[in-house]
Amino acid sequence: MLERMRTTGRFAPSPTGVLHLGNLRTALASWLSARATGGRWLVRMEDVDGPRCRRDLGEVQLGDLATLGLASDEPVVWQSDRGAAYRGALEALHAEGRLYPCACSRKDLLGLASAPHLEDGLRPYPGRCRDQAWEGFDRALRLRLPEGAVAWTDRLLGAQVDDPAGLTGDPLLFRRDGCFAYHLAVVVDDGAQAITEVVRGADLRAITATQIRLQEALGLPRPAYAHLGLVTTPDGNRLGKRAGALGLDALANRGVAVQEILGWLGWTLGCLDRPEPCAAGALISRFAWDRVPPGEVRVPQAWT
Ligand code: GLU
Repeated sequence: MLERMRTTGRFAPSPTGVLHLGNLRTALASWLSARATGGRWLVRMEDVDGPRCRRDLGEVQLGDLATLGLASDEPVVWQSDRGAAYRGALEALHAEGRLYPCACSRKDLLGLASAPHLEDGLRPYPGRCRDQAWEGFDRALRLRLPEGAVAWTDRLLGAQVDDPAGLTGDPLLFRRDGCFAYHLAVVVDDGAQAITEVVRGADLRAITATQIRLQEALGLPRPAYAHLGLVTTPDGNRLGKRAGALGLDALANRGVAVQEILGWLGWTLGCLDRPEPCAAGALISRFAWDRVPPGEVRVPQAWT
């Protein structure tokens, strides 16, 4: 019998609010995908954006995952503890001449009115500071992207070709306020945790090529990707992470049981023919990426 590749998956929320149904759907899909191959599933708290993240919110998120029956196979990694690894990655990139200091303020960048407005309001950095001389690690730092498009495959969306220069431009890896930036932390940690599959919301699809370029620059392997359609309100609006926004507590207050939520999530992931109450473990044998519908999903009216 052919041995199936065991997946190491991860769920990597930012502890900036309550996990809503879209986040929970991502968590469940990544867990099911890992479990369906007999693989490992890890939770990582992406609290690298210091001022916006709160440890207590992270603990609440972990509690919600546990309520669904999803627990990390290894101790949860908090990115706020990983500064030394991120600094090491910056030093390696600098040794290769890949970093430059960026003096542009947020205001300068907002002033780039002529920059095309792309998916999700993403504005590519136009490389204004590319010729700045190195001034040390205490400046805002960007990665110099190589030219050209990146071809990659999404488990749900199929073959993708993106030019990261036109989507993000040279990504910021270290911020003026002394925080390591999201792109750096996510790529370094996926590498350090030997993640083989990244499952996340479709709103992050457009930054994937940039993260692949950063993996290449750091000599890290490329994981598989799956970008799940977003979960919206019944009238099609995006769910936000604001307190109580369709998380487990809000749903419990409306009388929706956890098993009902799992059954609905499992149904939206193609594991069930209709939404019927069940436990997470009952969905594992039914999970397959080719059964997951790629589009957006609307929350039932009765839950809002
Ligand atoms: N921390 C990100 C978020 O909560 C997810 C990043 C990722 O999965 O790569 O949206």
